[in-house]
Order: sequence, then structure tokens, then C-alpha cells
Amino acid sequence: MQAENVITTRTSSQRQKASPQCRCGNKTVYFRAYNGESLCAKCFNDSIFEKTKKAISKYDMLHYGDKVGIAVSGGKDSTSLLYVMSEVMKGHGSKLYALTIDEGIEGYRDESVQNAERLAEKLSVPILVCSYQDFFGFTLDEALEKRKDRQVKSTSCAVCGPLRRRSIDLAAEKLDVNVVATAHNLDDMLQTFYINLYSGDLERIKWLDPSFKQQGKNSEFKLRRIKPMFEIYEQELAFFAYQNNLPFQSESCPYMNEGIRTEIRNHLNALEARHPGIKYSTLKTVLGIATSLEIGDARKRITRCEKCGSVSTGPICSVCLTLDVVS
Ligand SMILES: [Zn+2]
Ligand SMILES: [Zn+2]
Repeated sequence: MQAENVITTRTSSQRQKASPQCRCGNKTVYFRAYNGESLCAKCFNDSIFEKTKKAISKYDMLHYGDKVGIAVSGGKDSTSLLYVMSEVMKGHGSKLYALTIDEGIEGYRDESVQNAERLAEKLSVPILVCSYQDFFGFTLDEALEKRKDRQVKSTSCAVCGPLRRRSIDLAAEKLDVNVVATAHNLDDMLQTFYINLYSGDLERIKWLDPSFKQQGKNSEFKLRRIKPMFEIYEQELAFFAYQNNLPFQSESCPYMNEGIRTEIRNHLNALEARHPGIKYSTLKTVLGIATSLEIGDARKRITRCEKCGSVSTGPICSVCLTLDVVS
């Protein structure tokens, strides 16, 4: 019902228009269509810091003395996250590190790794760069060639995802951090929700609950994963990165246009253009579903992978299953 309200109350004739002036009197540089706010550069910037801080405190993401690794790929979202977190965490009593994974994508990754290093240096945040080559002995390009040779029908993201998550875990271990912050934004949350809705994966929908993996200090999830910017639109993070002259890789991953995520992204963007705010209200619905989902059995099913000993929901973990296909 709530979603219907959003659609019907913001028809084009009633939709608020941008004002040339921000409420503080400065010139408007950004119009937030979903709530009708016209914002100057400073107020827009402040709002991104505020939204991040609010999510951190609302979901109890950070504790005093935490050692936090920011997963920085060098794209607009993660460079924004590193920049925002280095501000937000000043005086917080937590230590901050940047953590970059080089998957090994020729002609694409080198530039973004350099960008991540440049920004980390500018912000005086120590950075650790690790690669698939270090951890698995091959690059993503090589792995995807093998997949092709063996005619395995899985998308590139399905191969890369588990390797990337494991790499982040291993890099976090190297850095001895207890929290990893990733730059998932509101759009990522919705896309992930739809992918799992369409594939019937309730457990992964539960993972969208921001407090789920943080529960229980004795749980198997020793590393706390947080997404401090999950309530922020992707396009606002792009604008933020531009506004602040952050060095970021503007090209998207050459492998990304496979799979259903791109179709869902386009669909949601088209809806949002016609009905500003629909992504925001969908996020509320997603959080409502994720937090009220009871999948008590999932925790009990967590065991150790027979091959590598990592935490797994099945006898063989997703990384070992992937390695079987590509190495
Ligand atoms: Zn202003
Ligand atoms: Zn394994």
C-alpha cells in the first residue's frame, strides 16, 4: 500500500520542481527529486555525511576500538566511502585501513588500483593491495578463459563474486581488522533483493538485514561486514565523487553486462525516473521483509568446508566450487 501511495502522490503535475536556491541561500547544484530538496554543493555534501553517520549509529555498525577495513575497488562508490569514512571516523577511536583487491582484469583494474592508492595516500589511510594472483594463483581473465574452455554456463560475476569475498576475508585477516565496510548503495541492495526474489533464495534476502550478521559475538561470522551507505542512491554517490574531485575509475567492469543485474538496474532506473522515490520506498519494503524473515535453520546449517576449512553453508564452500571450475 505504501508503495502505491508514493506512485499516486508524486504524479508529474504534483511533483516538486527544483528551486534555483538551496534553503541556505546558496545556488542549487543538485535536485533530490524523491523528496523535493534543492541543495547547494555544501548542503549536498553534508547530507551524504549525515546519511552515512545516521546509518552507522542506527544499525550500531561501529564500536569503540574497532579496526575497520574499507574495501576500495577504485570506483565511484568505494572511493566516496573511503573519503566519507575518513571524515566520519575522526575522533571515533577506531582505526581505518583501505583494502583493495586486484582481480586481474587487463586494461581495467590497473587504473582503479592506482586511484585507490592515490586517494588513500591523500587521506593518510594505510592501504593493502592484494590480488587473485596472490591468493589463488591466477587472474580473473585467466579464470574466465578456463570457464569458456570448459563451457561452464555461469556468469562472470558468479565466478568473481565468491573469489572476491574470500579475497576480502583473507586481506582483512592480513590487516587484522575486525570490521569490513563495503560501498553497497541503495541500488545495489534493491538489485540483490530482486535477483534473490527471482531465484527463490530466501537466505540471501535475509542477508540484506543490516543487523543480521552483526548479531551474536560468538557466531561464526567473526568479521563484521557493514554497508554504511546502503541508504544512499547510486546516482548521488556518483555526483558526490564528481563534486569532491575524487579520483575514480569511471568505466564499468568489462564483464558486468552479463546476467540479470543489468536488466534489473535498468528497470528500477526507468521506474524511478517516472516515480521519484520509488526506490526509497522499495528499500523500506526490502528491509521490512529481510528483518522479519525467520531463517533460524540457516545458522545451524553453517559448517566448515571439507576442502579448505572455511565457514560454509554446505559441505564444499562456494570458493572451492568455483576453483573446481576455473583452475
Ligand atoms: Zn545549502
Ligand atoms: Zn572451501
